[in-house]
Amino acid sequence: MESHIVKLLDIKPVTHDVLGLKVEKPANYSFNPGQATEVAINDGDWKNERRPFTFTNLPDDDHLEFTIKTYPERSGVTNHLRDLKKGDELIIHDVWGAISYKGKGLFIAGGAGLTPFLSIFRYLNSKNEVSGNRLLFANKMKKDIILEAELNKILEGRVTNVLSGENIPGYKHGFITEELLREVSIQPGDKIYLCGPPPMMDAVLKILDNLGRSGESVVMEI
Ligand SMILES: Cc1cc2nc3c(=O)[nH]c(=O)nc-3n(C[C@H](O)[C@H](O)[C@H](O)COP(=O)(O)OP(=O)(O)OC[C@H]3O[C@@H](n4cnc5c(N)ncnc54)[C@H](O)[C@@H]3O)c2cc1C
Repeated sequence: MESHIVKLLDIKPVTHDVLGLKVEKPANYSFNPGQATEVAINDGDWKNERRPFTFTNLPDDDHLEFTIKTYPERSGVTNHLRDLKKGDELIIHDVWGAISYKGKGLFIAGGAGLTPFLSIFRYLNSKNEVSGNRLLFANKMKKDIILEAELNKILEGRVTNVLSGENIPGYKHGFITEELLREVSIQPGDKIYLCGPPPMMDAVLKILDNLGRSGESVVMEI
């Protein structure tokens, strides 16, 4: 099994609880947009605490990037990441993951479930092939939305934000419902990409089933 010690080149806030990490890229290390690796902090007992995170930059970049939601209340790895600074070390492992771009469609993300799609959107954008793709992005509050401006720019406004915790103009309010999925209109032949917390995934899969759009057409991590 692969493991590489990599230095942190930069660490900065992306939202109030999401960090952007830029790290060294080992020689001959490659990934496809949407894929992930297990990451540990190279410090004492933290070395054994491996957690999966998705690469969010372009495969050809000379470094790697992660976009990581932190959970201070759990005192786990993501909380400890908040204390790291440039020059500290991480351990990264094999590349894996089932999410990859399989064609134009609707991307449905909840919170940090955006990350595989962020990588895919940035990659498609770099090749001028993002056209026709749409994002339905569920969060609690507006302040939780990861990279709202960049997503709107890449997708040329084809983003529907739904907020469960506040009702503000320009944003849908509530959870993802069958009505909302009908509203964003899934076209015949569209791929559906799904990534988010398990309760959201279960709810959306149930709705897709009702709409006759579950099964093979849904791309997600299994
Ligand atoms: C393939 C894959 C790719 C991922 N990519 C990313 C990414 O790019 N960015 C990102 O931010 N996250 C990503 N995640 C999620 C990320 O791995 C977890 O958020 C991380 O492991 C949390 O680690 P922790 O040590 O801080 O929390 P831990 O305390 O270890 O929690 C680990 C897991 O236990 C569960 N859990 C524990 N306590 C609670 C609680 N109080 N309430 C609810 N659930 C709880 C959660 O499922 C949590 O993910 C990815 C997950 C997978 C499977």
